[in-house]
Amino acid sequence: MATLEADIEAGARRDLVGLSRAELGAALAGLDLPAFRTKQVWHWIYCRGATEFDAMTTLAKPLRRRLAEHFTISRPAVSKAQTAGDRTRKWLVAFPDGSEAETVFIPEDDRGALCVSSQVGCTLNCSFCHTGTQPWVRNLTAGEIVGQVMLARDALGEWPAAEGGQGLLSDIVLMGVGEPLYNYDNVVKAMNIVMDMEGIAISRRRITLSTAGVVPRIADAGRDLGVRLAISLHAVTDALRDVLVPLNRRYPIAQLLAACRDYPGGRNARRITFEYVMLRGVNDSEADARALVRLVRGIPAKMNLIPFNPWPGAPFECSTPRAIERFAAIVNRAGYASPVRTPRGRDILAACGQLKSASLRVPARARAG
Ligand code: SAH
Repeated sequence: MATLEADIEAGARRDLVGLSRAELGAALAGLDLPAFRTKQVWHWIYCRGATEFDAMTTLAKPLRRRLAEHFTISRPAVSKAQTAGDRTRKWLVAFPDGSEAETVFIPEDDRGALCVSSQVGCTLNCSFCHTGTQPWVRNLTAGEIVGQVMLARDALGEWPAAEGGQGLLSDIVLMGVGEPLYNYDNVVKAMNIVMDMEGIAISRRRITLSTAGVVPRIADAGRDLGVRLAISLHAVTDALRDVLVPLNRRYPIAQLLAACRDYPGGRNARRITFEYVMLRGVNDSEADARALVRLVRGIPAKMNLIPFNPWPGAPFECSTPRAIERFAAIVNRAGYASPVRTPRGRDILAACGQLKSASLRVPARARAG
C-alpha cells in the first residue's frame, strides 16, 4: 500500500468535502469499509467540523491512519478576512487553482445569514453590479461552495452545529458572486449537503437562492431543492430591464413572472422575494412602484428594496431616501412587505453588488509585499 508521505507527494489523496453521501459511501467502500462508516465519517465532517481524521475518536487509530492515507478534509484558504464596523465579516476565499471568491457573514442579534458565492466572476454583466466588471469566470465546485459554509462555521466557532436551536449561522443566501442557476449541478449538490440533517443541517426554509432569472432552471430548482426563491427584478419594463439585467433579452419579464407563479410552495410562508435595486432617476419613480405592484399581482411576494451600493466608476447613483420612502409606501399600501435592505458591510465593500475578488485588481504578489 502507498505510504502517506508518498501519496501526499503524488497529490493522490481525494478530498471528501463536497462528495454526496452516496459518493462518500462509494469512496469508503473502495477501502472495503462497511456502510455504517459512511454515517460516522459524515458526522465527523459535517456535524463536528473535523478537518483531520485523527480527530475522529469513534474510529480506531489504524482506521484513522488508513483514511488519512487516502483522503483529505479540506477547507478553502482565506487570503483576507475583514470585519466591518457593523460586525459584518467578509472572507476572500482562495482556491487551489489561484482563483478567488468572496463570502460574507451578516450577523443579526441571535441569528445570521451567510452570503455564499457560486462562481468566480459572473457572466451576466448587470450594469449596476461591480462583480460584472470582473472578467474571469469559472464555476465553483460543490466542495468549494460547501467549503465556504464550513470555513464560516470554523471562524464563528460553531461546531458542532447548535443542537435543537439554530446557531448564529442560521441562514444561507446564494447572493454572493455568480449566478447560481448557471452553476446548477454544483449548487444543487452543495445545498443538498448543507441541508442534510445529520450534518450542517440548515433547512430549505432557511436557504434563499437569488437569480437574475434563468427561467428554465427555476422549475428545476423548485423540484430539486425547494429552497426559497429571490428574483433580481430591478425594473418593470423589458426596455429598462434589458439594459440593467441583460439576461432579460433572453428571458423577458413575462416569462420570468410565469416561472415564479409556477414555483412550488407559493404560500405565505414561502413568499418569493423580488429584489429591486434603487437607482436614482432610473427605476425609482412612483409610477414604477405602481407598475411593480401590478406586475407581481397574484404571486405571494415580498419586495426587497436595495439602496444602490456605489462602487468606483459606477454609472448610477443611489435613489434619495425620500424616493425610496415613497416607493416603499406605495408597495406597502398594496399589501406587500417592502423592507429596505440596510446596507451591511459597506466599509469593507461587502454589500450587495460590491463583491469582486481583490486579486484581480491588485496582483497577489503586490498585495503580499
Ligand atoms: N446572480 C444572482 C445572485 C447575485 S445576488 C442574482 O442576480 O440574483 C446579488 C444581489 O445584489 C442581486 O439582486 C443584485 O442585482 C444586487 N446588486 C448587484 N449590484 C448591486 C449594487 N451595486 N447595489 C445594490 N444591489 C446590487
